Amino acid sequence: MNKALDILVENGLRKTAMRQGVLEIFLDSNMAISQQLIENSLEKQFDKVDRITIYRTLKTFEQKGIIHKAIDGTHTPKYALCLDDCTEHEHHDTHAHFHCDDCGRTYCIEEVEAPKIKAPKGFKVKSTHLVINGLCNDCSS
Ligand SMILES: [Zn+2]
Ligand SMILES: [Zn+2]
Ligand SMILES: [Zn+2]
Repeated sequence: MNKALDILVENGLRKTAMRQGVLEIFLDSNMAISQQLIENSLEKQFDKVDRITIYRTLKTFEQKGIIHKAIDGTHTPKYALCLDDCTEHEHHDTHAHFHCDDCGRTYCIEEVEAPKIKAPKGFKVKSTHLVINGLCNDCSS
């Protein structure tokens, strides 16, 4: 069985070529990717790529706990595959994200957890993001 199809079935999502195509890009990538990059890859595969459809596909995947937003301190939203313990409406992606200053790529750093924050009195913490800047493996050598 195809891994992308597996994920769609597991999450009770209808199998469409677009959803499968988007998932395959995530499965093939070892970094977080932007909607623009997804569009560019899909253009090679489909005649017509509708931005809104891609946008909705990403939103659906995010809701289902398949992908998460990789907050990297830039203005371009990027997404990455979640680990297995994310479920619908409940993400556990508290790991750090590494943004390379040189190539601009963003990576999930699963082994580094964002610290638990004790907020000042009267403040309620909703989420905490840990962003690391620097040079990635390719750019530092
Ligand atoms: Zn997640
Ligand atoms: Zn780099
Ligand atoms: Zn991540």
